[in-house]
Amino acid sequence: MTTTITAAVARGVKAPFTIEQLHLDAVRPNEARVRLVATGVCHTDAIVRDGVYPTPLPAVLGHEGAGVVEEVGTAVTTVKPGDHVLMSAAYCTRCLQCRTGHVAYCENLFAEDFGGRRTSYGTTSLRSLDGEEISSHFFGQSSFATHANVVESALVPVPQDVPLAALAFLGCGMQTGAGSILNELRPAVGSSIAVSGSGAVGLAAIMAARAASANPIIAIDVHDSRLALAKELGATHTINARSSDTVKELLRLTGDRGVNYILDTTGVAQVLVNLATALSIRGTLALVGAARPGTEAPFEIGASLVRGWTFKTIVQGSSVPQDFIPRLVSLWRQGLFPVEKLARTYKLEQINQAFADSASGAVIKPVIVF
Ligand SMILES: [Zn+2]
Ligand SMILES: [Zn+2]
Repeated sequence: MTTTITAAVARGVKAPFTIEQLHLDAVRPNEARVRLVATGVCHTDAIVRDGVYPTPLPAVLGHEGAGVVEEVGTAVTTVKPGDHVLMSAAYCTRCLQCRTGHVAYCENLFAEDFGGRRTSYGTTSLRSLDGEEISSHFFGQSSFATHANVVESALVPVPQDVPLAALAFLGCGMQTGAGSILNELRPAVGSSIAVSGSGAVGLAAIMAARAASANPIIAIDVHDSRLALAKELGATHTINARSSDTVKELLRLTGDRGVNYILDTTGVAQVLVNLATALSIRGTLALVGAARPGTEAPFEIGASLVRGWTFKTIVQGSSVPQDFIPRLVSLWRQGLFPVEKLARTYKLEQINQAFADSASGAVIKPVIVF
């Protein structure tokens, strides 16, 4: 059944979001109608609004939603009306990567998450009141809206006592940062970890590194306020990259052996090239920060051959959201993943302020509460 909803619409490249009434069409067999309770605001929304990725505009973005299932399509088996859900990236469930459990590396990830259309039907679920097509299904969900028709693979059912507004945003940046440590790098107790960038993803990685009993845990950023928060969340040491020599400090803090695991959340090529020189023998440098397609980082491969080091990229913390998000909820219940320290809440009408506060660094994780 078609219904009228309120949503924030990205109308054009770098244009502010406009709050509009839209028509949301009927759920398809593989979808659930979700009433949104809250949704995080993420850097990926900003770069899609700004045209870095080619999701067709106008579009309803938003990909860290939380809400209550109101209705399910005929083929949906994992949720039912009344269930509480957190949302994450959609995946196709059919490709080889999905079928071998690597859903973050779904071969159809781009179409599923950035295509702006249903992959199974080629349609959008959203139209303006005068009939203009609006891209939907961003990350399978398009959560900057009071309601959404969400692809089943993007839904993570959670117990009814999970506070949806407080934990809405586990499904993207938190999962990426924490999953990179816990699912992909899997440090042994006492391993040294450095995290480059203390935004949402970096801070999630620091909380996870503490949960994994890494030591030392070194936060690198250019803002002292963020480094102070990193310390509160588990960093044992901090480096302000603007006022000190990062590589020199990393070597000093690890007794000149170098760092076992370095996670870069900045995606800045020169930062990566420098960090590679601060790795321990057999160390790993992992990238989660998005860089513009075509960006290159030249690494030294002569003298460093004998060091047996690794460079790797990580998507969504290599997580299976339906497995990993409940684990993050468990860490949160244990006091080991206090994500509320990163959040500030906004109303949907304040969404442009939320993006401005995120861009200026004033707020790490804006959360829209409906
Ligand atoms: Zn797939
Ligand atoms: Zn995101």
